[in-house]
Amino acid sequence: MAKRTKKVGSAGRFQARYGVRARTRVRNVEIVQKAKHICPSCGHQKIKRVSTSIWQCGKCGIKFAGGAYQPRTESGQNVEKMLRGGIEKPEITPEPQEEIKEEEGKKK
Ligand SMILES: [Zn+2]
Repeated sequence: MAKRTKKVGSAGRFQARYGVRARTRVRNVEIVQKAKHICPSCGHQKIKRVSTSIWQCGKCGIKFAGGAYQPRTESGQNVEKMLRGGIEKPEITPEPQEEIKEEEGKKK
């Protein structure tokens, strides 16, 4: 297919409206959103976006939830790591109670 737009891509449908920045952001999201991604199950580049955060493989038919505009997000991967036990949960350090007591004593 002949290339219609030189640089605006899918945001060309907005013509001159909404400002350069907003259109660029839309374009950058839509490039990832509309691209075919690699399947985590069969390895083929056949993952397509079905709906918001729903992705399906055209090869093996696997359907999974991911990011709204991309199959895997950074924050989603962090959660996966945490669930696998790769990253330890940030421990809550116990408050030094003795020091607080001393300060309270000084105030009195
Ligand atoms: Zn697949």
